[in-house]
Amino acid sequence: MKHLTRRYFAFVFIFLFVILPMRVQASAPIIIQGAMACETESMIAALTNPRDERIGPWRFVSGDYQGVPVVVSVTRIGMSNAAASTVLGIEHFKPIAVINQGTCGGHDPSLHTFDLVIGADSFDYSAWVSQPQVHTASAEDIRFFAYNENDELHYDIKLHADEKLLKIAKEQAKYYTRGKAVAGTIATANSWNRTPGRIHFLNTEYGSLCEEMETHSSAQICKMYGIPFIGLRVLSNTELHSESFNPEAGVISQEFTLMVVKAYYASLQESQN
Ligand code: SAH
Repeated sequence: MKHLTRRYFAFVFIFLFVILPMRVQASAPIIIQGAMACETESMIAALTNPRDERIGPWRFVSGDYQGVPVVVSVTRIGMSNAAASTVLGIEHFKPIAVINQGTCGGHDPSLHTFDLVIGADSFDYSAWVSQPQVHTASAEDIRFFAYNENDELHYDIKLHADEKLLKIAKEQAKYYTRGKAVAGTIATANSWNRTPGRIHFLNTEYGSLCEEMETHSSAQICKMYGIPFIGLRVLSNTELHSESFNPEAGVISQEFTLMVVKAYYASLQESQN
């Protein structure tokens, strides 16, 4: 009897402190972010057992996408919203990865509406210092900068996507049928840039393929937390070809993102076995 009791306690101990934490670890989700309804609604509709909650003014819907635990995070528009909701999402859901996705405006002349940009890296094109004593700063008179995790100013401005997420997104891009797929730089700012000269400058001098308002903010927060991150964007507009905003791009971005989410999760499970 005494023997049995000891066994029982050993079992309870192992269950509580070894097996249970492993299960919790296994079900840690992937956070998928989108700023607007047209960038999040179809993913939310694809979840089974959805749990809809608000943390402050931000909406998070957790659930299961074809066996993958995910949280769809509606960040709202702009860099402050993206940063704040990324912090809350990470603290609350302890994700294994974060993907920021949605619409964008084209910077590369080869790109049209519905083409896909896989964010190999990103930068904040609102963080710049201009030349002194120049009456009106033109694009060429500014120099972009960033601060790193140690609060040091530097000019190596781009943050890189997680290698595994990037590899998998590139593989999945082979199945992307709605347009062309390219990998490269996403430029982020709280701006909607309609000036061809400035677009040309960002494209030729900094390799920017597209612009939007959230990716680099999330990338920065994920870098600070050491969480794998990638930005995925579908062109909804491009000033270079007079193509104006088409929200359907948001739906297409969500479709592609879910393909990446599934493939990424499968590859993590494979490498665990
Ligand atoms: N509601 C607007 C479009 C969205 S506003 C309209 O109907 O015209 C800005 C949002 O769209 C941001 O979340 C941003 O990430 C994205 N976006 C798409 N194209 C953009 C562009 N050319 N410049 C900046 N942000 C863009």
